[in-house]
Amino acid sequence: MMQKEFTLIAGPCSAESREQLMQTAAFFERYNAASPQLPVKVLRAGVWKPRTRPGSFEGCGEKALEWLAEVRKTYGFSVITEVATAAHVELCLKYGVDQLWIGARTTSNPFLMEDIARALAGCDNPVWVKNPISPDLALWTGAIERVSRHVKGPVGAIHRGFGMYNSLPYRNSPLWEIAIEMKRSHPEIALLCDPSHIGGRREYLAELAQNGVDLEMNGLMLEVHPKPEGALSDASQQLDFEQFERLVSGLVFRNADCSSVKLARIRHILDEVDDELVQLLAHRMQLVRDLGRLKKEENLSVLQFERWNKVVERMMDSARQQGLDSGFMRQILNCLHAEAIRIQKDMVQEKP
Ligand code: PEP
Ligand code: MN
Repeated sequence: MMQKEFTLIAGPCSAESREQLMQTAAFFERYNAASPQLPVKVLRAGVWKPRTRPGSFEGCGEKALEWLAEVRKTYGFSVITEVATAAHVELCLKYGVDQLWIGARTTSNPFLMEDIARALAGCDNPVWVKNPISPDLALWTGAIERVSRHVKGPVGAIHRGFGMYNSLPYRNSPLWEIAIEMKRSHPEIALLCDPSHIGGRREYLAELAQNGVDLEMNGLMLEVHPKPEGALSDASQQLDFEQFERLVSGLVFRNADCSSVKLARIRHILDEVDDELVQLLAHRMQLVRDLGRLKKEENLSVLQFERWNKVVERMMDSARQQGLDSGFMRQILNCLHAEAIRIQKDMVQEKP
């Protein structure tokens, strides 16, 4: 089943050369002819790149706008790029860039957002606002509101994940519940999913894109590059042409009946909780190893009943207050303890 009005924006992370863009556009033209039910109508490419460290490739700037204008003229695609300052907006408008996106680092800054919004005054170009780096729905909707007050065209949102201290296995934590809340509180704003920047590695993109579809997002932004391994930015998360085709043709558009959407929402949140559990367990076992090292150094016994009894008492009490079954909690504690003892015994018995 196909979802109507599903927006597919795709193209390289960065515009690197005229040839790279023309080659990508030629591929999308072939792809669209073969897959008219889910076409790419908008080609993305970053012209100014917000890089974490100085000295990395920072985009080709104004000359890349000339390449985008040529793609547009030759192939008829709309083109979209990122703007982070009022000067970027002016240049994009001068070169006829059709759509603009605001990057996660910029959305986080209300001063920049205000400048950009003013530079866009009266424009009818569609503008997409990525979520801010921090998991702050109000900052995201505030940025959208600033743009909406000035432009005449549509303003949409892009969910690209959040920069948390530990987002593993992904580059950014999806925190699907924030995207869900955005959709619930602002159903009038189109919301796209950007699996590339959430995942950070191409092998995760298919599952993340499917999650976006299952949550009834209105489309996807995907990074696609003729030779991803050699890309000048975000090399590990871009798809080659074949991988892009495989991902898109594998998407399943389910019947949007209410119960399945509700089910999918809860499952996504459950998956996140499970990921957190794994991270917490890994953290706990790391601390267990630190203790093991000290016990060895100080020649202390691995099993210290008094301490363990206190842990059990405290945890059982806390579990009771949270309404958890005591038998279940007991089993978990036994497992945790057995694993901690196993790890520490190996460490203490290890020959120096
Ligand atoms: C990008 O789309 O290439 C980009 C830099 O995005 P984000 O702002 O999500 O990091
Ligand atoms: Mn990128």
